[in-house]
Amino acid sequence: MSDLIHKTAAELADMLAAGTTTSVEITQAHLDRIAAVDGDLNAFLHVNAAVSLEAAKQSDARRAAGAPLSPLDGVPIAIKDVLVTTDMPSTSGSKILEGWMSPYDATVVTKVREAGLVPLGKTNMDEFAMGSSTEHSAFGPTRNPWDLDRIPGGSGGGSAAAVAAFEAPLALGSDTGGSIRQPAHITGTVGVKPTYGGVSRYGAIALASSFDQIGPVTRTVMDSALLHDVIKGHDVHDSTSLKDEWPSFADAVKNADVKGLKIGVIEQLDGEGFQPGVLSRFHEALELLKANGAEIVNVSLPSLAHAVAAYYLILPAEASSNLAKFDSVRFGLRVQPEGGGTVEQVMSATREAGFGAEVKRRIILGTYALSAGYYDAYYGSAQKVRTLVQRDFADAFSKVDVLASPTAPTTAWKLGDQLDDPVAMWRGDIATIPANMAGIPGISVPAGLADEDGLPVGIQFLAPAREDARLYNVGGALEALLEQQWGHTLLSQAPELKGGQR
Ligand code: GLN
Repeated sequence: MSDLIHKTAAELADMLAAGTTTSVEITQAHLDRIAAVDGDLNAFLHVNAAVSLEAAKQSDARRAAGAPLSPLDGVPIAIKDVLVTTDMPSTSGSKILEGWMSPYDATVVTKVREAGLVPLGKTNMDEFAMGSSTEHSAFGPTRNPWDLDRIPGGSGGGSAAAVAAFEAPLALGSDTGGSIRQPAHITGTVGVKPTYGGVSRYGAIALASSFDQIGPVTRTVMDSALLHDVIKGHDVHDSTSLKDEWPSFADAVKNADVKGLKIGVIEQLDGEGFQPGVLSRFHEALELLKANGAEIVNVSLPSLAHAVAAYYLILPAEASSNLAKFDSVRFGLRVQPEGGGTVEQVMSATREAGFGAEVKRRIILGTYALSAGYYDAYYGSAQKVRTLVQRDFADAFSKVDVLASPTAPTTAWKLGDQLDDPVAMWRGDIATIPANMAGIPGISVPAGLADEDGLPVGIQFLAPAREDARLYNVGGALEALLEQQWGHTLLSQAPELKGGQR
């Protein structure tokens, strides 16, 4: 039964359809795995076995009655704590929301429930999704299943570690500047940032509203497609959600074929600042695609030189405004200064105690960037860069079908190594943030292990807005080619975790 944890969501769906297992068995196997290894990983902030098993029981009853809600009915899923839920706490990794319960479910949570998926719990994350390592969580860092002394990426390190460590076959993440794709790269999993507006943001605790997108974290491209197919689509509660009819992403994976596909390699993300092992796996993957009929060309996006600087002005500006609502009156924590205090003093004491260092840093930066006298110089200039990035992408996509780059410059670093140098950590987002600035979709697919440290490396593909299906085509094709070459999946190479069996 323990082998159920090593099945993909697609395989579990088939087994459930064939009646060879039950949702209760599958859910129990994953809860047992969490109990065995999460003490080491800290991927989950909240698990309630009884609630998950009850949902599994109901799923089994629907199957028995011949009325499953979807092919994934009964398959478990982990949910990033940035998404609000009525039956589990939602903290967004912050002390300021500790103990708060949401009166409603995020739309994506409603959608996974309506498809019969079984929520296993809420996953750890950098506070308010600010970070690239999950070390900024108020509830302790998540550790990387490949090496417990290393970071799992961030901000969605909990979701990625849970999936990589076989604690859950599927997870939901949020990607504002790479928080789905970068942890996928770091942990050897698959992560997808959909087109801006392709998936509802209603009930996702906002970081930077013009960048945020919700998406899947899984072990295979097909599983991401299956989950994306569940969560996509218009939502009346999110005015930025698109009314498009989306194609089946699972079909795009099934029919994956790169013959004739034109792939542009982004020159600015292929060289200086990138770890040699990251670049080797990247170029080998491109060779493999070429050998199978893809055309590879180089493209230049000059504005990317300024993308990190612009992102780290726009993001704090939007975040400082989104986080103003945590005022000690409406949500969560309230700290009374000794001997009472005015409303302002209570707010100030609460925000002082409730926010961590990275959040405070960004609130100060964002407030400054938006202040009168500096608005044009900082926020205004950053928005101009954003327009240039969008133009560079439009130009590139007039020449190629998809763009490719390494997902991030390095493999997983040691816990603590970058904590004293926030700007160094920010710089590591260079490959992922441009997609958020342009609203375009991106995927990270495992490309192998770096020679120098044996840690996972991801390759990123980007497509024009609304063309998410292209990512499933090229990602699905590459995954199949690589696994054929290796003779195994990447995650089967991860070391055994104490208490677990592989
Ligand atoms: N590392 C980026 C940041 O810290 C990504 C954030 C995200 O995607 N939520 O802003």
